[in-house]
Amino acid sequence: MSISENLKNIKSILPNHVTLVAVSKTKPVSDIMEAYNAGQRIFGENKIQEMAEKHELMPKEIQWHMIGHVQRNKVKYMAEFVSLIHGVDNFKLLQEINKQAKKHDRIIDCLLQIKIASEDSKFGMTQSEAEAILQSEDFSELKNIRVTGVMGMATFTEDENQVKAEFSTLKSVFESLKNIENENCKLQTISMGMSGDYQLAIDSGSTMVRVGSSIFGERNYN
Ligand SMILES: *Cc1c(COP(=O)(O)O)cnc(C)c1O
Repeated sequence: MSISENLKNIKSILPNHVTLVAVSKTKPVSDIMEAYNAGQRIFGENKIQEMAEKHELMPKEIQWHMIGHVQRNKVKYMAEFVSLIHGVDNFKLLQEINKQAKKHDRIIDCLLQIKIASEDSKFGMTQSEAEAILQSEDFSELKNIRVTGVMGMATFTEDENQVKAEFSTLKSVFESLKNIENENCKLQTISMGMSGDYQLAIDSGSTMVRVGSSIFGERNYN
């Protein structure tokens, strides 16, 4: 099926409160334009350089989400335009995002990545690490960022019960962190669910799914 048909099918089953991030990493501008022309406006990339290049070439009303692991020294390449950074997993990174956002006189929305998977390869912080950050004096001084939610990635496994349990963990971390409210922290988003598990994620409370291959087809990394 075509990209626009895939997109239409997925959108037809997403509840209204769930935002679709079309994950376009490794895919050419022509593919992204097909999704754009079908009405999609939010795209996710996992490499800052690649996202910046696509941003240059494409319509400016596209909202670019950084969904990958973020290296501090590359924040400057996306600070001017990025719409949401999903994978924030430490305080120093928040400080750098704040600093770069300030240079462009804007506020950048961020999600805290919480480690829910049992795999060592997945990034993220624990609930108590997230709490400590959000309640700290240093955090409240970061006027150019806003933490708007949490993000997590489940273990890559066939075991639906395990995936479900991990998504439920993220949902409960969200519910607990949501009680912390100040100027730059208003939690409303739970980013969880990809092509293979977005249905489960939505059942577990996801409000934002990141879907790549089910829209654009399998990725070729060569
Ligand atoms: C690649 C990627 C996705 C999308 O994966 P698909 O299985 O192709 O839907 C979602 N989230 C993150 C963080 C990714 O890196």
